Amino acid sequence: MEKADFLDKINKIKLIISDVDGILTDATIHIHSDGIESKQFTVHDGAGSATARIAGIPIALLSGRYSEATTIRAREMGIPHCFQGKLNKIEDFVKLCEIYNVSADEVAYIGDGLIDIPVIEKSGIAFSPPNSHPLILEMTDVITKRSGGTGVLQEVVEFILKAQNRFDETIIKMRKEVYKG
Ligand SMILES: [Mg+2]
Repeated sequence: MEKADFLDKINKIKLIISDVDGILTDATIHIHSDGIESKQFTVHDGAGSATARIAGIPIALLSGRYSEATTIRAREMGIPHCFQGKLNKIEDFVKLCEIYNVSADEVAYIGDGLIDIPVIEKSGIAFSPPNSHPLILEMTDVITKRSGGTGVLQEVVEFILKAQNRFDETIIKMRKEVYKG
């Protein structure tokens, strides 16, 4: 992709939709003997979602697999829309576009697995960590430096804000709002 076309695509982004397993986590799921499952998330992505909120870019989650741990983490991260449990993600992708009143080309999608292919194709721009499925690595627009569970969402948020020339102003705003500095 030409650099001008890429910048044109990224300048349009108004909403980030992220897959969960393999993006916010390293894809590991711990199933305990009592049936309770747990996952490991990183605070870097919590910080990333706070940065996006301050910049006015909403984040939504779209996971093929239902998990209570994901619901709790989404709530903690202040993410109001966390759709889970449908292997066909297109329906909820369209729903999220309607909720946020954006078109598909205004969405940046973060995904790593085969079930993400239809939404990756539909989104304006796609980001994927290096531990994604090989087919995803072939079709995605940007391969992140960080791997799943180590701050991919934060990297994508900062990448978009820097490309849109809004990163510095967002940090200044964050200092005023959060740190009162
Ligand atoms: Mg995944």
